Amino acid sequence: MNHEQSRSLYDRALSVLPGGVNSSVRAIRPYPFFIEKGDGGHVIDADGNKYLDFVMGYGPLLLGHDMPEEVQSAVQQRASEGPMYGAPTEVEVELAEFVARHVPSVEMIRFVNSGTEATVSAVRLARGYTGRDKIVVMESGYHGAQESTLVEGEGSETQPSSPGIPDSFAEHTITVPFNDEEAIHDVFDAHGEEIAAVLTEPILGNYGIVHPVEGYHETLRELTDDHGALLIFDEVITGFRVGGLQCAQGKFGVTPDITTFGKIVGGGFPVGAIGGRADIVKEFTPAGEVFQSGTFSGHPVTMAAGLETLRYAAKNDVYDHVNALGEQLRSGLTDIVADQAPEYTVAGTDSMFKILFTREGPDEMTDHCEAGCRQRASCSRHDHCPKRGADVMDGETERWERLFWPAMKEQGIFLTANQYESQFICDAHTAEDIEQALEAYKEAL
Ligand code: PMP
Repeated sequence: MNHEQSRSLYDRALSVLPGGVNSSVRAIRPYPFFIEKGDGGHVIDADGNKYLDFVMGYGPLLLGHDMPEEVQSAVQQRASEGPMYGAPTEVEVELAEFVARHVPSVEMIRFVNSGTEATVSAVRLARGYTGRDKIVVMESGYHGAQESTLVEGEGSETQPSSPGIPDSFAEHTITVPFNDEEAIHDVFDAHGEEIAAVLTEPILGNYGIVHPVEGYHETLRELTDDHGALLIFDEVITGFRVGGLQCAQGKFGVTPDITTFGKIVGGGFPVGAIGGRADIVKEFTPAGEVFQSGTFSGHPVTMAAGLETLRYAAKNDVYDHVNALGEQLRSGLTDIVADQAPEYTVAGTDSMFKILFTREGPDEMTDHCEAGCRQRASCSRHDHCPKRGADVMDGETERWERLFWPAMKEQGIFLTANQYESQFICDAHTAEDIEQALEAYKEAL
């Protein structure tokens, strides 16, 4: 493949953008390919190369790159009527009503502009509501570029994971390994009265795909209830992707107090949101005392894109389609992995998927696992799947670069640029696209 244009754009970018990019993950080695435009389930780069796209903007593009007519015209109309006003609009109310109607935990919602802003505000809300400072997060969970959750270390011995964050932020953040019942019990035994909230992704989507073991979310629900702490599900990735319009909380049957959203709820435009029980969300200013504000919040173009995207998904068989393709892909990958790389795992659910360069549990294939074994819809055991982010990181991560660029990208398949981030199927993908991807994986692995 020719990458002349991408290389020269990257050279220019390096002198004016740190690392040549505006978000760290995009700095693909040896150089990023610059995208010219999207086309359904594909993207076309600056040199005219076409790729089957499983990055999908890192999750927001449930419908793919071509917005359906309804979404397109709503977006264009809003943009042509003046993009924003600094005053409320009907479309914000409609999107709020839509989310509240479908997502179990949401009675009220505040829209913001990114997943990061949503989790920052959710943590502030939980602290303000409970009058407590400590938050518990999962090792290898990700909640955006926010001070309180960019931590490393174990338990209460955490430090900021980036220069520029005072130690005092990490002092209030406790980490536990995901899926470890004993660890979370110990933390509540030691700090129960000081904990404002447990914040977790329902499925870890940023450090491999790590599924919850049966009962784990129920344990988090019980412990937070028993100790007067709040449970926050960060559904920035899983929201309106896993579990359809009810989100992952509907799929797992555990209702958090607060949910954070991003990505799909803005239909491909910058968005975040904090939803939850009315008595909690009402603590945000101006209804309550916890300060929250934003020039672009509830941006009419974003709200229109999000609303029409979700309405389209509700009226059409979008989730059936993407989930069936997800199953086709995971099932095919499972066979390829069993044949060619039995030490790896295929993880994912609904329209999320990833190959993890590690495997655990018994050697024998169980026939009831949705993720990593045989993709049976009802399984919650995931015997072979890594249970913690650390397990994924202990895998043969250096193999990723060979799989991603020389093996898959050169065959015209665009995957997320590191081993850890989930990949996504969109409504524009077809069964033929999935077959093409499987052929490429077969060759690559
Ligand atoms: N939470 C989760 C679970 C995420 O995956 C992300 C981003 N991938 C964020 C928060 C941050 O969202 P944003 O990048 O829109 O700030």
